[in-house]
Amino acid sequence: MQQTFNFGHFIPISTVDWHGRSVSVIFFRGCQLRCPYCQNHAYITGSSEMDIEDMKSQISKTKPFISAVVFSGGEPTLQRDALIELAGFARSGSLAVGLETNGFGADVVMEMLDKGLLDKVFLDVKAPLDEPKQYAIVTGLNVDAGSKAAKNTAMTLDKCIRAGIELEVRTTVFRGLVGAKDIRKISQYLDECDCGNLTYAVQQGLSDNTLDMKDTEKFSRQEVLDMATAIKPVNLKDIRIRTIENGEERIV
Ligand code: SF4
Repeated sequence: MQQTFNFGHFIPISTVDWHGRSVSVIFFRGCQLRCPYCQNHAYITGSSEMDIEDMKSQISKTKPFISAVVFSGGEPTLQRDALIELAGFARSGSLAVGLETNGFGADVVMEMLDKGLLDKVFLDVKAPLDEPKQYAIVTGLNVDAGSKAAKNTAMTLDKCIRAGIELEVRTTVFRGLVGAKDIRKISQYLDECDCGNLTYAVQQGLSDNTLDMKDTEKFSRQEVLDMATAIKPVNLKDIRIRTIENGEERIV
């Protein structure tokens, strides 16, 4: 069994990462994407090995105060063995398991679903899934890799919907990269899915914590709200926005 994993950060108790639950959040280090607006760039490269057994001890210590563990990053599915080991440990202690993912590791998500290790997936859909060139720009990849990211994300979305687990799809809007036209296309795509269990969240990208886009003016709360209220859902039953001004607001 693998002894260590590339560790980013640990939040013992969070009440904002999974609505209605108190959770621990484990950030895995390493990511195959390079989104220009990334807020977690401290965790996308580098090496900081942590013993998996030590991580289990931390979960056990926090267990009286939480009902779930959320795996985040970076991209947790890049470290399949450690992710599955820790998710299984959480599950064996009757904790729910959430996964924040960019969707690239569709095979790992599918394996976890098959093993019954996931209760909720928080999936980034970063741009319209049928626009590989734009997906490449928004994820900081070349066109081939961006095309693969879009394809794998579509597969992850499909698997999660078919599994019937709780699913939150998120799009970060960022001036000059992702805007109203994209939200319209992504929401239409989601609306056409069989999506009874799906929440769609439009998130305001913030430039302050980015590496190279600090000068880009963020969309205002009103601009983000306008994008979300322009969605005319048929099947989507839960649409939200998240902004620095007002936090989370449910629109539908
Ligand atoms: S997928 Fe997430 S962690 Fe990776 S570069 Fe993009 S925003 Fe950052």
